[in-house]
Amino acid sequence: MIRINTVQHLKNHLNSFRNQGKSIGFVPTMGALHQGHISLINAAKSESDVVVCSIFVNPTQFNDLNDLAKYPRTIDVDSQLLEAAGCDILFSPEVAEMYSEAELELKRQKKEDKSWSEGKAVDFGSLAMVMEGAQRPGHFNGVAQVVSKLFRIVVPQKAFFGQKDFQQLAIIRSMVKQLDMPIEIIACPIVREANGLAMSSRNERLTKDEREQASAISRALFKVKDLYSIKNVEQLKALVENEINLVPQLELEYFDMVDAQTLQPLTSFSQAKSAVACIAVKIGHVRLIDNVLLF
Ligand code: AMP
Repeated sequence: MIRINTVQHLKNHLNSFRNQGKSIGFVPTMGALHQGHISLINAAKSESDVVVCSIFVNPTQFNDLNDLAKYPRTIDVDSQLLEAAGCDILFSPEVAEMYSEAELELKRQKKEDKSWSEGKAVDFGSLAMVMEGAQRPGHFNGVAQVVSKLFRIVVPQKAFFGQKDFQQLAIIRSMVKQLDMPIEIIACPIVREANGLAMSSRNERLTKDEREQASAISRALFKVKDLYSIKNVEQLKALVENEINLVPQLELEYFDMVDAQTLQPLTSFSQAKSAVACIAVKIGHVRLIDNVLLF
């Protein structure tokens, strides 16, 4: 595996692969890698000649500076994991390599920077107004900003994202469509710990006890999956609230059952062809999200 820190060096390398007719698969991450990330690398390997993984803790998608400061950074272990998984290129740029000072200043002033869409209006509309979009103002603009930059640098045929971030996946698909980017977005299933907790870099910040307590999150979601055909939306919301409240360390931020396409909350299951149950829960200062596809 080659480790690259600059955009120009990466572009040069990838051009030589492209000139040999090789296809490029891309896995963007923020590092602190776990088996969820490695499953994306494996998927990318099975569908591409060359696999690029980026590790970049993107400042423009954090609306909480403390969360950004505390985000786990384990680049040396990550590098070993990627090498063992058969990744070809690790791209790990510094912030200054990805952003101009002017772009960062806009973020500091909490102003949305839409210049990344190169004059084309990108509007996520109601997709970005619910759940994570509602709880984390500016988050998806920052995600789309960095992913669009990375896509223009790497120019992959296929890019691999986890269903763990279900709303992010919808935002990326929408961005690629609106910007006419010729990139296929591949969704990969959620990888879980043995106790059902969805793997997440943020789990690193949990104690052993908290990891056990947090397993109530996925248990509640799987109960909803078992029961949605015999209980209504209101009953299921009450059930999840109850399950989460039973664990004093957990604080429910939101729980919604949404249309899998539009992400709008459902009041009845007959409103959607496909539905997903999405949740955000705080445990101490750590915020966890999870979801389960219902039908
Ligand atoms: P992150 O490093 O958190 O930005 O995540 C990078 C990619 O890994 C995103 O596409 C995530 O959806 C995906 N991912 C994170 N956790 C998991 C998981 N438990 N299972 C599958 N994919 C995941």
